[in-house]
Amino acid sequence: MKDYNKSINDLKASGSLRRLPEVEHEGKYILKEGQRMLNLSSNDYLGLASRSDLRNDFLDKLKVTKLPLSSTSSRLLTGNYTIYTDMETDMAKRFGREACLLFNSGYHANTGILPALADKQTLIVADKLVHASIIDGILLSGAAFQRYKHNDYAHLERLLAKESPAYEQVIVVTESIFSMDGDTADLNRLVELKKAFPNIILYVDEAHAIGVRGTTGLGLAEEQNCIQDIDLLVGTFGKALASMGAYLLCSNVIREYLVNTMRPLIFSTALPPAQIAWTKYIFDLLPSFATERKQLHKVSNLLREKLKGSGGEISASHIIPYIVGENSDCILKAEELQRKGFYCLPVRPPTVPKGTARIRFSLTAAIETQAIDQLTSIIHNIS
Ligand SMILES: *Cc1c(COP(=O)(O)O)cnc(C)c1O
Repeated sequence: MKDYNKSINDLKASGSLRRLPEVEHEGKYILKEGQRMLNLSSNDYLGLASRSDLRNDFLDKLKVTKLPLSSTSSRLLTGNYTIYTDMETDMAKRFGREACLLFNSGYHANTGILPALADKQTLIVADKLVHASIIDGILLSGAAFQRYKHNDYAHLERLLAKESPAYEQVIVVTESIFSMDGDTADLNRLVELKKAFPNIILYVDEAHAIGVRGTTGLGLAEEQNCIQDIDLLVGTFGKALASMGAYLLCSNVIREYLVNTMRPLIFSTALPPAQIAWTKYIFDLLPSFATERKQLHKVSNLLREKLKGSGGEISASHIIPYIVGENSDCILKAEELQRKGFYCLPVRPPTVPKGTARIRFSLTAAIETQAIDQLTSIIHNIS
């Protein structure tokens, strides 16, 4: 038998053992080992997860609907409550697209859609920095696979010119806001490229942008005005929407094909109807969270400005890296910030390139500008 204990000890020795942190939540604060810290590592971008007004209003309504807390089945068997189809119809309408399909999570979506759609005549070309769930989906698909340098569309164009004639179709995959650098894709440039070739399918993951970007919160594709041009527009409900699950906007044909072939959709119990009702409740309110989006942009601009020259200039969103460089230095700085009441986490290679160990700030609308001022004055004093 493999010596798992030795592997764990090796991880410990190299300082890369992961543990599930024991934390408690108190609004925008996190409590850990008796210390109360402002949470600067949250995906609750609009601050909705801790809003008791929304929660109480929703729970009052839920009592009336009597929606169950489990679907007890895959949607293809007996789990297809009308709330799923209602939500899909609503979402398709809001995005002005033909069809929408819901999934249990972004991880299910990314590991299910690509293997269902790709075959031996398919090439998948992905940005170098796409999320692990997309990589897993690509590997599961068994399709031919290439990566282009991060946001380097000239490189992508060369790859497409060289490789695309040999395949029936090429799926180009990107995130809209990237998880680690917080920079954004130029979606219109990708749409242009797609139109320049006869056989390209464009796949965009809006996990970090849904709720946060666009005038009604529909994501970066809304902001860049190209929702109609992205074949496969994916997003999650677990971050800014403070719920759980994921969606795909696509054509009727793709939706029907996925219902017949996508394994995580077919072979997993559907999300609880009550959970879908909460997602729908938040999604319906999304256009009304303009104040939250504005506050998030305000604090993000401020932190980016203050971290200019050490990572702030890389970001174009509420995810902002503070690049420290060496692993040990990065850990010490994160610990110092935590002692001073700011919960932030070091991110090290191999998650990010060697020599770019960083503290990754992930801001929310609940954070105020004074907190950013305090944070950055501490950063400038310890560096
Ligand atoms: C968080 C994330 C996912 C996974 O979504 P879950 O709903 O948490 O499974 C997928 N893609 C990207 C880019 C993400 O950041």
